[in-house]
Amino acid sequence: MLGLMQDRPLLIQQLIEHAALNHGDTEIVSRTVEGPIHRYTYKEARDRSRKVAEALLALGVKPGDRIGTLAWNGYRHFELYYGISGMGAVCHTINPRLFPEQIVYIVNHAEDQILFVDINLLPLVEKLQSQFKTVRHIVAMTDRAHVPADVKIPNLLVYEDLIADKPGTYDWPEFDENTASSLCYTSGTTGNPKGVLYSHRSTVLHAYGAALPDTLGLSARSVVLPVVPMFHVNAWGLPYTAAMVGAKIVFPGVALDGASLYELFEKEKVVFTAGVPTVWLALIQYMQANKLKLSTVRYAVIGGSAAPPAMIETFDKEYGVEVLHAWGMSEMSPLGTVNHPKEKHAALPAAEQLAVRLKQGRPPYGVDMKIVDDSGKELPRDGKAFGDLLVRGPWITSGYFKGEGGDVLRDGWFPTGDVATLDPDGYMQITDRSKDVIKSGGEWISSIDLENAAMAHPGVAEAAVIGVAHPKWDERPLLIVQKKPDAQLDKAALIEFLSGKVAKWWLPDDVQFVEAIPHTATGKILKTRLREDFKGYKLPTA
Ligand code: ADP
Repeated sequence: MLGLMQDRPLLIQQLIEHAALNHGDTEIVSRTVEGPIHRYTYKEARDRSRKVAEALLALGVKPGDRIGTLAWNGYRHFELYYGISGMGAVCHTINPRLFPEQIVYIVNHAEDQILFVDINLLPLVEKLQSQFKTVRHIVAMTDRAHVPADVKIPNLLVYEDLIADKPGTYDWPEFDENTASSLCYTSGTTGNPKGVLYSHRSTVLHAYGAALPDTLGLSARSVVLPVVPMFHVNAWGLPYTAAMVGAKIVFPGVALDGASLYELFEKEKVVFTAGVPTVWLALIQYMQANKLKLSTVRYAVIGGSAAPPAMIETFDKEYGVEVLHAWGMSEMSPLGTVNHPKEKHAALPAAEQLAVRLKQGRPPYGVDMKIVDDSGKELPRDGKAFGDLLVRGPWITSGYFKGEGGDVLRDGWFPTGDVATLDPDGYMQITDRSKDVIKSGGEWISSIDLENAAMAHPGVAEAAVIGVAHPKWDERPLLIVQKKPDAQLDKAALIEFLSGKVAKWWLPDDVQFVEAIPHTATGKILKTRLREDFKGYKLPTA
């Protein structure tokens, strides 16, 4: 027997309509690429999203067409999220930090029809435009007065001109909730980037899951500043979750340095923020150097890479900010787990509490997880056994755009490529990316654990560990360190510091100091580059 409830499709455009009706005067504040701070309300955002949809129709956009954006976090990008998906087209967010040839590949692979571009990225598009095969229009995301005079893009359209004469009365269409809504390519540290194609249903369900108290815990009283870019897995879903609950949004634009972020946090009374560890390193350094405190920020989501323990402690002790350690991936929309303590953890000694906080957290309802060994056998949830982490759920991909990579699921489960433990309380802890784990004498050494231990040294700005070939042990760990400016630090001191913090046989065989640790376009340590840089390097123990 079927239930007798209404079968209303879950559609992204309903989120902005809901926000306009119920939180119409709640603000959306943006630091614009043009410079000044822009502020308006959900109601105005809704009206202008409708105009965007009307403008797309006027440009001949059809349902299912891919519309690309090369843009920072700002109100026009927000309007595009809703305008594009809401009229049935696919919002394809492109990471401008990718290599130019990857951008060309992605635009052509997605067959983008129109590209919406922030003005400081127009020079990039100017260089690449001749290689785009399907792009019919390029739109500068600004008004006529701010179009750079020297830009050489033929027939460049202007965002404000496009929407100026539109009525903003658009009646959003209703369609199947499984319709594609947005597209995001994984940064692909190896091989070509692959597209993850989200649906309206997956996006709305992810927003529900993200809003839960033990996930991001957002509400109409929240003031949210997504540092994580809107081209990095839809800013972890925040533009949708914020609209769903009516939270005030503060968009930081292109200025992600410590000083600019700090100023916005304070002026806009931001309570909740989210980003990858590298931006927090920069912010903390800025605040320490200038002896500043945060007066309103209470929660910082840290994800994309493991949150170093020293960062969690500094945020907590010096700034009164609770770190919500989170894990996810493009293929998961992206939220997989968020770390909130349970009641019973409050009674634990501080060191044990920190050990729990270091885990990547618990999944919300909607994300199923299991760990398996090489033969696919499920491993116990005892917090000790570690194996390949598999996931499934309504906001997890079933395969990549245009079938790239073939059939990726294993019996309906998506292999994350991460190696993890699960404990009886539901907490997951990543020990490594399967391709980064160091295989020494048949045993595994976690590069993340070693990096975390090294980063706790006050003289270390950033640390990376890679496996290096060893005649006896197959692989042994090499620790690569970027020192803090003026830090006095040598190999012996670091190894001494690590002794007792990790198993003896995990201690790195060598330490190398570098000017800067390289990062991917989404802020992860670029281990492929480090492996290349240290190719042919011989460990002193080899
Ligand atoms: P891309 O796939 O383009 O590299 P993603 O953001 O999708 O970018 O990367 C997902 C991966 O990032 C995860 O599979 C995991 O390896 C890593 N990751 C994300 N969050 C964490 C975290 N909190 N701790 C450790 N690793 C993380």
